[in-house]
Amino acid sequence: MMTANRRTIMAGAGAGLAVAYGLGSGARANAAQPQRKLGYAIVGLGYYATQQIMPQFRDCEFARLTALVSGTPEKLERYGEEYGIPVTHRYSYADYDSIRDNPDIDIVYVVLPNAMHAEYSIRAAQAGKHVMCEKPMAVSAAECEAMIAACRKAGTKLMIGYRSQFEPHNLHAMALAQSGDLGPTQIITSEHGFYAQPNQWRLERPMSGGGSLMDIGIYSLQAARYLAGEEPVEVTAMESTDRSDPRFASVEDRIDFVLRFPSGIMASCVSSYSSNHNNFRLHGTEGWLRAEPATAYTGHRLWVERDGQTQEINLPPPDKNQFAAQLDHLPQAIMAGTQPRASGEEGWRDLSIIEAIYRSAREGRAIRLPETLATGPAGA
Ligand code: NAD
Repeated sequence: MMTANRRTIMAGAGAGLAVAYGLGSGARANAAQPQRKLGYAIVGLGYYATQQIMPQFRDCEFARLTALVSGTPEKLERYGEEYGIPVTHRYSYADYDSIRDNPDIDIVYVVLPNAMHAEYSIRAAQAGKHVMCEKPMAVSAAECEAMIAACRKAGTKLMIGYRSQFEPHNLHAMALAQSGDLGPTQIITSEHGFYAQPNQWRLERPMSGGGSLMDIGIYSLQAARYLAGEEPVEVTAMESTDRSDPRFASVEDRIDFVLRFPSGIMASCVSSYSSNHNNFRLHGTEGWLRAEPATAYTGHRLWVERDGQTQEINLPPPDKNQFAAQLDHLPQAIMAGTQPRASGEEGWRDLSIIEAIYRSAREGRAIRLPETLATGPAGA
């Protein structure tokens, strides 16, 4: 017989479990919250902004698309017409700072190449706007600190586009890991990678800040941290890159790393630009869970094993997908006066660990992580 607790998990009443742990999408309006949709300006009209993010506003309760920023007039016209954005709300990079005079813009969503995140986020804060910034938050922990400081000075909120933190299977896995029903967590593994096509900014260090780790391996790092539910204390890493491959003249291909957490959890993580992976596993003393694909745009699957019995968790369809839930979360935090989940500090933690991963691979030794990881950047 399954216990009630176990039945909850195994039968897949996952949304309930996630909400019980305060991890639900939190998307439903509560009576205290004003029913206003806050306006987003999207900066950078590339693949992710136009193909994944912009279509999601139709499913948002608290967010609407009100402005566009691009260096390409044809894109401003095309997407401006498609989304009904008036000409007065279409900006080039040259007149970006004048967004300060537009009351229809509450939030600026930075979807530019990584090396541009800090500058455009800081200028948005200086214009008095709240900031949503894509992952990786920036190309260094120091840049993240400057972004956090700028938003704090301006009194605006800062959130990072960690959409998986709003995806039901990931939420269910986090809640299950924290519930103790699989026993204390011992081992986490997470693999993320794809085959990188040549000739793109991702392969140019000045624009990307690094290779697979900055782009896709960061999902392995995120999963390790949100499944462990604590901050790592030490990391070791190894890199393998064929420098004769023109794609990897300035950035790494594969970099694997192991994180050790205070409770003893070990997380082994894969990051690759030359092979396809998208999964995580968590092993407790009483059972395990496995997600694959774990952090994709769609098609997530999750299995749980206990007492030698493996079952797939079938979650009810969410009210809104991970993208819409992420877009709605920041307006809710702004209106409620709370810190958003996936805050700037969360992005800073990842960049601080990423710097230690690169250093470990370079120096061939384990790197201790600073205790401030758990609290936030100095001066925070
Ligand atoms: P992309 O190349 O498709 O888009 C980048 C945009 O920036 C383009 O419109 C380009 O014209 C513009 N741009 C402005 N100045 C530029 C310059 N100097 N060099 C190059 N481009 C310049 O890239 P993308 O895939 O949309 O990625 C954009 C950001 O979104 C990245 O930070 C990436 O990590 C992030 N992203 C996140 C996810 C996710 O699932 N959360 C998925 C894809 C991308």
